[in-house]
Amino acid sequence: MALRTIDSLGDLRGRRVLVRADLNVPLQDGDIADDGRIRASVPTIRRLLDAGAAVIVASHLGRPDGAPDPAYSLAPVATRLGELLGRPVDFAADTVGEAAQSAVRALEPGGVLVLENLRFNPGETSKDAAVRGAFAEQLAGFADAVVSDGFGVVHRAQASVTDLEALRPSAAGLLVETEVGVLERLTRSPQSPYTVVLGGSKVSDKLAVIDSLLPRVQTLVIGGGMLFTFLAAQGHRVGASLLEADMIETVRGYLAKAAELGVTILLPTDIVVAERFAADAAHETVPADAIESASFGAQGIGLDIGPDTAGAFAAAVAASKTVFWNGPMGVFEFPAFAAGTRAVAQALAELEGSGGFGVVGGGDSAAAVRALGFADEDFGHVSTGGGASLEFLEGKRLPGLTALGWE
Ligand code: ADP
Ligand code: MG
Repeated sequence: MALRTIDSLGDLRGRRVLVRADLNVPLQDGDIADDGRIRASVPTIRRLLDAGAAVIVASHLGRPDGAPDPAYSLAPVATRLGELLGRPVDFAADTVGEAAQSAVRALEPGGVLVLENLRFNPGETSKDAAVRGAFAEQLAGFADAVVSDGFGVVHRAQASVTDLEALRPSAAGLLVETEVGVLERLTRSPQSPYTVVLGGSKVSDKLAVIDSLLPRVQTLVIGGGMLFTFLAAQGHRVGASLLEADMIETVRGYLAKAAELGVTILLPTDIVVAERFAADAAHETVPADAIESASFGAQGIGLDIGPDTAGAFAAAVAASKTVFWNGPMGVFEFPAFAAGTRAVAQALAELEGSGGFGVVGGGDSAAAVRALGFADEDFGHVSTGGGASLEFLEGKRLPGLTALGWE
């Protein structure tokens, strides 16, 4: 079955619609470092306002521990949303408490209200279905209908992503519809050669996808934080670099399986090693199998792929017809360690010009390409979800999509 769309909700004039958006933007010193996810939420909100609804927007931000934490307040996000919509946006200082309740009561058709961070409530991510359900009931009490548009969280069975959708008439928002359309193209009929490029820092989350991706791709390119677990699996020392020691055996298994399937796993041959994790850290480029030969010895931290590797990765992208990329190749937030990410982004943008199809997925990956000066139009698609898009490509059933009728 296909996703239920906003049209399935019928006449929305005068109705309250709760939009579960993904406004989980990267923050730097309290400022929004990249507003891509807020921009991506605007079309659905506009559409609902045009239909005469009052819109309540709910989202998480960061990983607060089920309790209010001012560092993760959505207040600055609500302000930015108001600027993008060009109309006033109310903000409730709690999620389902008294502030939220009275703000919802005061909300008129055409009005927009942003609730405080969903994850300030333990019910949002609780493993206990009853606890989640009780929180979902409180959210449902605010609205006549629910629109699920937070693509970045559809792989999570969380109160606002699955439980809430079952309590009210619910439908996918325009962002979720678009994202699913693009990812379907990648899973149903990817033109080969098909290459997946993986990096980033959520190593344990992402290593597991490799197993399911191996039978689907011709080449797997490994950069970012996860490359060090691969180097360790090959018996190399990695200094103080990000390492998932208890995954080394599993990674050996992936290497063996790739060899069996004839899939190329492309690993770095050189690494930029830094003295410490800082923008201005001293750094050297050394062979990938000799990270501790840099002046910093066992203290050295690999913060980017080296220039030879960047060239090889770019060539692998250029030789492909379909590429999905998730996870920066290095700590791109520090300009000295952004070159690897830039090289891959450049190659992906050129692929687009030569008839290939390149997709960037992931909150930080999308932020990275924008920070490096690329526009979303330079790529086949820039997905707002990293984990969600990877799980989709693996062929998994995503609970947040199942909740919207997807099979
Ligand atoms: P996404 O949000 O695109 O799915 P992740 O959240 O997994 O990506 O990872 C993004 C982060 O990975 C970035 O903040 C980047 O600094 C970090 N990263 C990339 N390479 C390394 C590395 N070698 N060591 C530590 N962190 C890294
Ligand atoms: Mg991320």
